[in-house]
Order: sequence, then structure tokens, then C-alpha cells
Amino acid sequence: MLTYEQARRNVMEQVAKVPAPRLLFTLSVWDALGFVLTEELKTDRKYPPFDRSTRDGYAVRSTEVSPGALLPCVGEIKAGDTVAQPLASSTCVQIMTGAAVPAGADAVMMLEHTQRDGDAVRFERAAQPGQNIVPRGSEAQRGQTVLSPGIRLGYAELALAAQIGATQLRCAAKPRVAILSTGDEVVSVEQQPGPFQIRNSNSVSLAAQVRLAGGEPVLLGNAADRLDDLREKISRGLREDVLVLSGGVSMGKYDLVETVLQGLGAEFYFDAVAIRPGKPAVFGKCGSTFVFGLPGNPVSTMVTFELFVAPALDLLSGACARELPLVQARLGASLNEKSGLTHFLPARVEWPGATPEVKALPWQGSGDIAALARANCFLVVPEHRSQVPAGETVQILLRKDVV
Ligand code: AMP
Ligand code: MG
Repeated sequence: MLTYEQARRNVMEQVAKVPAPRLLFTLSVWDALGFVLTEELKTDRKYPPFDRSTRDGYAVRSTEVSPGALLPCVGEIKAGDTVAQPLASSTCVQIMTGAAVPAGADAVMMLEHTQRDGDAVRFERAAQPGQNIVPRGSEAQRGQTVLSPGIRLGYAELALAAQIGATQLRCAAKPRVAILSTGDEVVSVEQQPGPFQIRNSNSVSLAAQVRLAGGEPVLLGNAADRLDDLREKISRGLREDVLVLSGGVSMGKYDLVETVLQGLGAEFYFDAVAIRPGKPAVFGKCGSTFVFGLPGNPVSTMVTFELFVAPALDLLSGACARELPLVQARLGASLNEKSGLTHFLPARVEWPGATPEVKALPWQGSGDIAALARANCFLVVPEHRSQVPAGETVQILLRKDVV
């Protein structure tokens, strides 16, 4: 059986074989959060465009300022002011953060280290050349590439595009991800379930995870555990870039997802991974659609999505696959888990000091959504460890949506 790392690599290798997204379109910088850029963006001018003061204070010639020096203040420069006059020698000029430093001046003395004395300013410290000035062109030259194809547009990237005047951005279409839950017991979340039925919460978590991972969810509802219904709804899902199924991949008599996929000509890359929860996870391809058959227990569905589906969506968006947000933490309470599989336990990490501390949460197993809603990470217990004492360093997988 594959380890989760091997299974993840397998997904990335298979998905990397298909060409980058074909569908491109133009989006306003206001609407492009989470999209992947497909063009190169170059600066329209130097950045900063002028020598910029980073402090409120006085622009000076550094050679003229030593502790106790007194210079007449001959003017004021606000942010946005046009600066034409060079600084006359043996004078200073008051300057604000974001304002252009006049020619001749090579340092800005912070207001806090000066004393105003009528029209003159007394300096408490020596000036260093270049102090509190960001020179013109030091962040970027004119025509320099600052954003490249394949970049995911987060808030900083969008601000950078806006800064250089790129308000319309060429982006890749998000991969379309069909979401199909399965199970005779499952009813839509808008419906009142009968005494032995459950609401389709998996389609809700999957749609949210698809959005967070940069995909476009396409909701297909639920299929009964019957060959005909599964075949019809799976065939519909195969029109999209990715099909994610929940349920129907275990060993039960009515777990028919693999049979139906097989009948539709699917090729399977794996159908089990050495993890708990999530062991029966299936990954394959049917026509040009990548198919993930995730186990139906809600926590299994969520974990296997993060491990295996999310990197596929990154690649299909034309970006690199993001690393798993794994970090180290100190174990706050000892653990005793069966070995043989890598466990992903709902857990809570806190930062009481410099080192994060994590505790597994009590839970009733992989159907326990409430436990995961109290968690902000998964505690990763490697397959060879059954007992882990408190105080040990362990790995945690952060829930990116809440941490
Ligand atoms: P399965 O993987 O089909 O054997 O389902 C495992 C467990 O997950 C069963 O208890 C199901 O009732 C539950 N389950 C399956 N599909 C869903 C769903 N869409 N929403 C919530 N729970 C589900
Ligand atoms: Mg089922």
C-alpha cells in the first residue's frame, strides 16, 4: 500500500502530464483573488519612482549633521508635493513619510531625534548617508518583470499588480470539479432526513475545500448505491476536469463506485493509501477527467481531499502544487494509537510560548464532524509509532482555512 507521501506524488505526476490550462480570460484586479496569472507583468516605471522618505523628519546632507548640530529649516515637503528645488547647503527641510527627498539631501533624520528651535532644528544624532531613504528604482527598475505566469494571486500579488497599473489580468480558468456524493442513506441538506438517513454534509465540505484549493465546484448531488444511478451521475461528472466522489469505495456489498468507474473505462493509479482515516481513497482517470473516490466518512473525505485532491487542483490551475502545511509542535498529552497506518487525528494547536503545543481531541472516529470543527489541525502519527509520550516533537498538518 502506498504511503500518503507516495500517493500524493503519484497524483502530482499524473496530473503534471496533462498540458497547462487552455482556457484563459481577463479579470479585473478586484476580482482575481485566488486565480493563477498567465502573463508576465512588467513595471511601468522605476519603483519607487522618486527617492522616498520613509520617516517624518528632516531631509539633510549627512555630512552636515552630527550630535548637537543646528540647521535652519527652510521649507516643508509633503507626500505628493512636486520637488524641484535642491536642498541648499547648511540647511534642512521638513519632510513627511512618502514624500520625495530633494536633490542634495542624502539622509532623513527622524523627528523623534530632533528638537525644533524656532526656524532652526537641533539634531541629537549623527546622520548616516542613505538613512531613511529608499532610492528611486531600488525596489524595481522600469520594465522589470515582477509577476510571472503561474503565480497565484494573493493579496500582495494583487497589490503589486495594482501598483504597476495592471488592472486587467490574464488568468487561467479555475479547474471545474464535479462533486458527487453516494449513498442510499444520504439526503440533500435542504431536506428533512428520515430517522435512518443523514444529510449530505460531504458535498458542503467538498465544495468549500474545492473553492479554497482554487477550483470551481460543480454540484451533482447524491447518487443512490445502484449501478444505473451511479453510472448516469458519474458520466455527467466526467464532463468536468475533475470528479470527486464521496462514499462507496470501501469493501461493502453496496460500495459500487470502482465497479462503475471501471465499466466506464477508468484507469486506476491507486485504490488504497496507508492512512487512517482515509484508507480506501481511490485515484484514477476516466477519459480526460481525473477521478477521486474519497471514502464517505466526513473526516476521511476532508483529510483525503487535503492530501490528494488539493495538489491536483493547483497543477490544473497552472500553478505549482503548494506544499502541505506541515509544522512541528510539542505534544501536550501522550498518545496511544494502533500502528501500521499513518494517523491524522483531529487536534488543537496553541501557541502558549515560542513552541506550538498540540493535543489530540477526543473523537468518535471519522464520522465525528464536531470533533474536526473543534480542531485547527491534524496530528500526524507516523505508521511505526503506536505510543508517543507527551513532550515529544510531533508533526501537525494545519487546517489552512482556520489557522
Ligand atoms: P461509505 O464510504 O459510503 O461506506 O460511507 C461511510 C460513512 O460515511 C457512512 O456512515 C455514511 O453514512 C457516511 N457518509 C457517506 N456519504 C456521506 C455524505 N455525503 N455526507 C455525510 N456523511 C456521509
Ligand atoms: Mg456508502
